[in-house]
Amino acid sequence: MSHFAVVPGEVPTRLPARFRTDAPTFERTNVTRYSVFSLAKQALGGHRGWGRAWRDPEPKKRYDVIIIGGGGHGLASAYYLAKLHGIRNVAVVEKGYIGSGNSGRNTTIVRSNYMLEDNAHFYEHSLKLWEGLSEDLNFNVMFSQRGVLNLLHSDGQMDAAARRGNAMRLNGIDSDLLDRDQVRRMVPHLDFSEHARFPIFGGLLQRRGGTARHDAVVWGFARGASALGVDIIQNCEVTGIRREGNRVTGVETTRGFIGAGKIGMAVAGNSSRIARMAGLTLPIESHVLQAFVTEGIKPLVDTVITYGAGHFYVSQSDKGGLVLGGDIDGYNSYAQKGNMPLIEHCLADGMQIFPNFSRIRILRHWGGVMDMSMDGSPFICKTPIDNLYLNGGWCYGGFKATPGSGWVFAHTVANDKPHWINAGLTLERFAEGRAIDEKGGGPTPNVH
Ligand SMILES: Cc1cc2nc3c(=O)[nH]c(=O)nc-3n(C[C@H](O)[C@H](O)[C@H](O)COP(=O)(O)OP(=O)(O)OC[C@H]3O[C@@H](n4cnc5c(N)ncnc54)[C@H](O)[C@@H]3O)c2cc1C
Repeated sequence: MSHFAVVPGEVPTRLPARFRTDAPTFERTNVTRYSVFSLAKQALGGHRGWGRAWRDPEPKKRYDVIIIGGGGHGLASAYYLAKLHGIRNVAVVEKGYIGSGNSGRNTTIVRSNYMLEDNAHFYEHSLKLWEGLSEDLNFNVMFSQRGVLNLLHSDGQMDAAARRGNAMRLNGIDSDLLDRDQVRRMVPHLDFSEHARFPIFGGLLQRRGGTARHDAVVWGFARGASALGVDIIQNCEVTGIRREGNRVTGVETTRGFIGAGKIGMAVAGNSSRIARMAGLTLPIESHVLQAFVTEGIKPLVDTVITYGAGHFYVSQSDKGGLVLGGDIDGYNSYAQKGNMPLIEHCLADGMQIFPNFSRIRILRHWGGVMDMSMDGSPFICKTPIDNLYLNGGWCYGGFKATPGSGWVFAHTVANDKPHWINAGLTLERFAEGRAIDEKGGGPTPNVH
């Protein structure tokens, strides 16, 4: 087994001063503040006095900013636009109901264990926002820092993980490289037998990683944005983007034309479709990613575990169900549903590290449409079309990015230029020869 080192050092756990703003905290203009007192008061009245968490307005004729897509990213962007940049004449336009896309379909893993500079700073910024998000939103997003453990199965993987862990530490991100005995003490029921197909050599652990409740994140941002004046317009599909010359002027929707000063696209697996409405071709492909949940069992997995010799990850929900996932479908698709081959592929991988899962029954299985970019990293940037901005290409990384993505996207839209944190996440990076290929997979979206 190889020897390794991690650079010791202090790991910050609070948002550094350069990220903070003097902006007011969440303004509760027209919503009840959630607290033990409001809960007690409502309990006395049989809980019949709670108001709506967010408004349901008719669309106005025109907004300063329209965000297309009512997932976590669109709603977070609108929230930070209103909160940090004072831009409140904003609409989030969603074709279904908020959270009906990938934001409500993911396996809820949050981490910032990235090696490359552009990703590392961005995802760490996001993780720091997660650490204060429930307080900021006055909404419990059930952020649970239970740790994310990547299993390693060869000397080569140990060396690569040591390199990643050191790079993370140098960027101020926590990481611990564990040997086999440390992993065994942490998760004793993994397969450490002689017969394991790919023996466990060790693991790379990010203790500050974990999970959050995905619906709560959507609802929390929606409530916060709505309270600050943002209109959340559901059941309103964007069918076209109107342009005058090289500048966008508004969106055609199933509820009529809505004018806009600026338009932000945050539509995940539909990014290419929406961009095409404005005449733009994106380096993004759409693929289905599937997830599974088992029947509830007693506490068994108290961290997030990923398998390093295949593609499988698992955590346990508060209700006791194991939440599982694995590879995307290798071909392009817009189908928001699962299929049989992936069930076998994913569960076979899982059984290699957890043979004791074999008698647990799968309860549900679903899919979401992923926006896979050519290098596996996202875009949060201006586009070649004036006043049109892109938030997409999230691949596997979009849920953990939600607060950070909204924060820097709002900055980019408000100032018509990126924050330094997302300055590298541009569309031009391929032409400039600086792809952000964290996995080293090359220009092949379905392997990232
Ligand atoms: C099965 C699965 C597991 C995943 N697991 C993880 C994980 O563990 N950790 C992690 O970090 N990431 C994970 N992801 C990725 C993550 O869920 C996404 O990257 C993230 O939620 C994207 O958020 P979003 O707001 O950009 O997109 P979405 O939540 O998909 O929101 C986009 C919205 O745009 C709307 N829309 C589309 N077209 C139009 C239109 N024409 N007009 C109006 N609205 C439109 C859609 O209805 C949708 O609600 C997973 C994804 C899937 C599918």
